[in-house]
Amino acid sequence: MKRTKVIDALKRTDFGSEITVMGWVRSKRGSKGIFFIALNDGSTIKNVQIVGEDEKFPEDTVKLITTGACLRVVGTLVESPAAGQASEVQAKEIEVLGACDNTYPLQKKGASWEYLRTVAHMRPRTNTFGAILRIRHNMAMAIHTYFHEHGFYYFHTPLITASDCEGAGNMFQVTTKNLYDLKKDEQGKIDYSDDFFGQQVALTVSGQLEGELGATALGQIYTFGPTFRAENSNTPRHLAEFWMIEPEMAFYDKQDLMDLEEDFIKYCVRWALDNCRDDLEFLNKMVDKTLIERLEGVLKETFVRLPYTEGIEILQEAIRNGKKFEFPCQWGDDLASEHERYLVEEHFRKPVIMTDYPKEIKAFYMKLNEDGKTMQGTDVLFPQIGEIIGGSVREESYDKLMAEINRRGMETEKLEWYLDTRRWGSCPHAGFGLGFERLILFVTGMQNIRDVIPFPRTPKNCEF
Ligand code: ATP
Ligand code: MN
Repeated sequence: MKRTKVIDALKRTDFGSEITVMGWVRSKRGSKGIFFIALNDGSTIKNVQIVGEDEKFPEDTVKLITTGACLRVVGTLVESPAAGQASEVQAKEIEVLGACDNTYPLQKKGASWEYLRTVAHMRPRTNTFGAILRIRHNMAMAIHTYFHEHGFYYFHTPLITASDCEGAGNMFQVTTKNLYDLKKDEQGKIDYSDDFFGQQVALTVSGQLEGELGATALGQIYTFGPTFRAENSNTPRHLAEFWMIEPEMAFYDKQDLMDLEEDFIKYCVRWALDNCRDDLEFLNKMVDKTLIERLEGVLKETFVRLPYTEGIEILQEAIRNGKKFEFPCQWGDDLASEHERYLVEEHFRKPVIMTDYPKEIKAFYMKLNEDGKTMQGTDVLFPQIGEIIGGSVREESYDKLMAEINRRGMETEKLEWYLDTRRWGSCPHAGFGLGFERLILFVTGMQNIRDVIPFPRTPKNCEF
């Protein structure tokens, strides 16, 4: 008989029919010769209850029905007398597809996040990680749907890149050279001419530069792919391998860009509330009691649009009133997460789009303001997270861009292809990067970015 997924089994009302379900035992309890199994197959956070009488099954089979075991159950769908579930399955036949002995690492309830990271290859079988991973999938669908419906094209930028290699300390090099036998010239430099690509290359830290090529041809594009940063920052918000969404739009100015950032994030949050209700309710109960309230709150709020300079004034005022920060926040300083969170969580109590940053703390490609001091960045700061989006209007003038590149002493040899966008038919354009896992952190209420991606990569950790 064809298998019915648990999510569908729980919706069926054809009581009396025969049904086959398969899944893993979440728990088993019993009394007076009757056992109750909570069976889950990953299709939903909810379990289907299997009821059976010990004496109707071989003793050997009953013994093998333990937490974590995989079962095939054939039985009768019946109306459930128990609260909280409409139906259950009265078992007629149970086959143990995969037994699970007491060395199974997920036997105990309430294991710590730290412990679960050490068994990250098995943790998707827990309720919480099941919920997180289903939400993660849904957010990917939301993102593709949003952009597709708004006329953006999914543009695939390369993961291996030769740009920004030199000097940038946070890239992972890609080479087929024998590192045990590395030849250097008299200056101590490595000759890459005989390496696979004939030059030094690395894994990309952003698809933006190539994304700009797409936007200045197709109008509006987005990327959605893996991104690699060898930043040795062991924080709860940084991964060495994460996923980034980078839309890039021709003919957008700062206002258009901020409107898109806000509309896009709200769309994703609304999608979660509309499509992940069971998982969100589970997380709201088990992980963060204010989660759903916070998600609904974001939809109601209009994001504050705050120039950096005004943000600094607010922070200075807070310090004068006795607020203590670990890091300095004078005009010109890069804001730390504590400053961002103060503005969002304590001062405004709603998301903030911070704009017009000092050029010294931002990237070379951002559009310079008339004041010659600030650039048209538009970062989105969120409660619990801090920076969730980094965006900006791009400098479209070849001369101004070159002046900034020269001022920074950057080499242009590997950037000529990028500069071609400004050489030929340059256009005003803007874009942003959203860290996918930071969005998942917000939507799930989880605290550590290692717990919202199946296999986290962080300094000194590349297991599984
Ligand atoms: P942060 O200051 O938090 O390190 P950033 O300024 O380096 O961020 P951008 O270069 O603007 O970030 O990247 C765009 C977005 O990518 C960020 O807003 C963030 O959501 C995400 N992001 C950046 N670095 C990481 C990382 N190491 N792990 C996960 N997400 C990241
Ligand atoms: Mn960073």
